[in-house]
Amino acid sequence: MKQPLTEEKVFKDPVHNYIHVQDTIIWRLINTKEFQRLRRIRQLGTSYLTFHGAEHSRFSHSLGVYEITRRIISQFERSGYKDWMPEESLLTLCAALLHDLGHGPFSHSIEEAFEMDHEDWTCRIILEDTEITAILRDVAEDFPKKVASVISKTYEHEIVVNLVSGPLDADRMDYLLRDAYYTGVNYGTIDIDRILRMLRPYDGRVVVKESGMHAIEDYLMSRYQMYWQVYFHPVTRSSEIILRQILRRAKELVQEDYAFRFMIEPLSDLFRGDVTVEQYLLLDEALMQTAFMQWTLESDEILSDLCSRFIHRKLYKYVEMEHLDTETIDEIRRSFAGAGLRADYDLEIDFPTDLPYDVFRPGDAFDSKQILLLDRHDKLREISEVSDIVRSISGIHRGRYHLYFPQDRLQKALPQLPPSIADIFAK
Ligand code: ZN
Repeated sequence: MKQPLTEEKVFKDPVHNYIHVQDTIIWRLINTKEFQRLRRIRQLGTSYLTFHGAEHSRFSHSLGVYEITRRIISQFERSGYKDWMPEESLLTLCAALLHDLGHGPFSHSIEEAFEMDHEDWTCRIILEDTEITAILRDVAEDFPKKVASVISKTYEHEIVVNLVSGPLDADRMDYLLRDAYYTGVNYGTIDIDRILRMLRPYDGRVVVKESGMHAIEDYLMSRYQMYWQVYFHPVTRSSEIILRQILRRAKELVQEDYAFRFMIEPLSDLFRGDVTVEQYLLLDEALMQTAFMQWTLESDEILSDLCSRFIHRKLYKYVEMEHLDTETIDEIRRSFAGAGLRADYDLEIDFPTDLPYDVFRPGDAFDSKQILLLDRHDKLREISEVSDIVRSISGIHRGRYHLYFPQDRLQKALPQLPPSIADIFAK
């Protein structure tokens, strides 16, 4: 099924040094307009407002995921493991390369605002009438369907799904390394070569040789660190909140038939909840930022205020609270309204939580989220049974409540707020 290129193509990459493309199909997929769009979408959404280096794109991440998968597979093929079927190599590589194809601009905030799922869009772009579909069809008529089923995790062979999205998948390994590199933080520097050498196809899934346990501990620790230091950074959350509010406000205005000074295709259709694949592919971050810049001039004060905050990085401040009940939230909102603030825009409550690793509970069957170690006697054990470190970071990490608000507006309203409420924000 593979069609080797006459000459290998390489991309220089700061994380993996080189990315090797050896197959014609992969090379053609990279050169489609749908894949090239990923150059115009940042990997970390609004994180560049916190870590100025975080300008890397979904394009570079997707190539990285492809490269890690290629290295794992070529190791499987070289070793001739009976649990790996070489005829599935091209399928796995295509799924790895294309797994983020459907990401929209500022991925997660926009997905929430438009109630859409990037995975659904990825599958639509693979299955509907696009350059990607045409190339995949050259492999076999049902090949686009197979690639989509790997991405939606319904493909019949779990091991293929495992490589692209599992507890130790190529996706996470690439984004931990890449996000650490571009944000400049010191966490997330895992020994990827060692991890890759320790992976084995076994009994229909990917497992780790027991002697690789410490490298896996490092990987889970860095995942934990990256979540709390980078992905959940309160300043990033603040910019995401403003972004979500912009989208919420614009949507309200479209529904009210407000006459925008500036509107750009396909945004108004998107706000009405109805876009085609062709329209969806017009979306990128440059388009969104152009709209936001133009909307700073709109007569709707809420929209223009939010857009200037986002464009000029005048983000919301926050206070942290250990406990917060719904009564207190209601009281804050009432007091805000009484003091002339906008209860629905001037206060946002955020409670980040993360599940770094879901432990195995005795009696359960091993599930696809667990990392299994393979010992010398070919016996499988779930990693938290063996590792104290993994046990200590397993389970839900409870976060704290973060209350976000526009400092300038709150300052003006402070004298009108009851002292008990003003105290919360005067910290
Ligand atoms: Zn990804």
